Amino acid sequence: MADLVSHPDEVKLLSFRFGKGAASIEKYLELGGYASARKAIELGADGIVAEMKASNLRGRGGAGFPTGMKWSFVPKQSAKPKYVLVNGDESEPGTCKDRLIFEHDPHSVIEGVIIAGLAIGSRMGFIYLRGEYRYLLKIMERAIEEAYAKGFLGRNIFGSGLDFEVVSHTGAGAYEVGEESALMESLEGKRGIPRIRPPFPAVVGLYGGPTIINNAETIATVPHIFRIGGAEYAKLGTERNGGTRLFCLSGKLERPGVYELPMGYNLKKMIYEVGGGIPGGRKLKAVVPGGSSTPVLLPEEIDIGMDFDQVGKAGSMLGSGGVVVLDDTVCMVEFALRTMKFYRHESCGWCIPCREGTDWLEKTLTRFHAGGGQARDIDNIRYLAENMMGRTFCPLGDAAAMPTIAFVKKFRKEFEDHLNGAPCPYAHHREAALATV
Ligand code: SF4
Repeated sequence: MADLVSHPDEVKLLSFRFGKGAASIEKYLELGGYASARKAIELGADGIVAEMKASNLRGRGGAGFPTGMKWSFVPKQSAKPKYVLVNGDESEPGTCKDRLIFEHDPHSVIEGVIIAGLAIGSRMGFIYLRGEYRYLLKIMERAIEEAYAKGFLGRNIFGSGLDFEVVSHTGAGAYEVGEESALMESLEGKRGIPRIRPPFPAVVGLYGGPTIINNAETIATVPHIFRIGGAEYAKLGTERNGGTRLFCLSGKLERPGVYELPMGYNLKKMIYEVGGGIPGGRKLKAVVPGGSSTPVLLPEEIDIGMDFDQVGKAGSMLGSGGVVVLDDTVCMVEFALRTMKFYRHESCGWCIPCREGTDWLEKTLTRFHAGGGQARDIDNIRYLAENMMGRTFCPLGDAAAMPTIAFVKKFRKEFEDHLNGAPCPYAHHREAALATV
């Protein structure tokens, strides 16, 4: 189980129950649990959506789409049942926040699903956990059982006359299934590949019914919005980026961990104050700001607020909130190779630019890092990656290409240092690190 960390700058809203035994329903209730669901029943569907829009909550899975707006797209009338689907297929390298929610506060996910269901007129929710989180499934299943036993799920929830069912499920361990349409395919028992859109899930989703799909952190945030009010929640963050989020700090840091900070918190401060800076007084080389698919930032680019708009302006993305810090011992060619190995392995193979592109990039980067590179390979790597962009069925193709383009653009000199059979100039750091293991 994961260790918890803390820092005085944290605003513990979503994480305030972490470490307090709230996986049990009695503790969750003692800490104010399920009061938001009762409040949402009183508000009704339109009131819930209005509160969500006022909160300025944007999806925490990576895309940052406004949650209230997403919910409003679901048609009020539908011949087919509507569904709520929680995306807990957390697999982006550098990201490890949803697992804390499932472990420490599973009822917040259930309560969030109930509220989302009330908002769209759904009677059924699914909580999908990544395959490698099977050890958390027991916690989730127990929480669901407890909620049924209390009458918060099932028939006539909270005595409201409404029915709502929740089922949890795990995948088989595929990054691709984190893409929402592939997630639906997987849940329906099919191969986890994306669907062609339109139609979009809000209209034709799971089992053909209108479906909203939200990341686990997004859904777990919902009860807290109703606890403090949408407008108050919005004020915690920046314009158009309401609230707080769980940032996962990893890499070369003194105090790595998951911290809940206001949206717009300064990235430099996050690294040097919250994360404690770089061990051994080493120099910062680069920062991946939002999980492995986001373009890397240079030290001179990190004096920015961590919200979707500001990180976008800096040429990268806030993504899943996975901040990976790299110091001057890291070889960027090797880092690019490791990143590409992951995407090549996780490509579902459905479309050619991604299937072939990731394979070629991995092969070229492997040869390059081993000292077999030629000058023209540097531009070839970039050319290959640029030709994957926007030409694939799902965002995995872009997720592999975007960081690669940034690595070549921002660290060309390091690629040149590997030319003509030259050994990796950073190999001695790697050997020294291995020697300490
Ligand atoms: Fe599959 Fe890659 Fe195409 Fe996505 S981009 S559908 S992962 S082959």
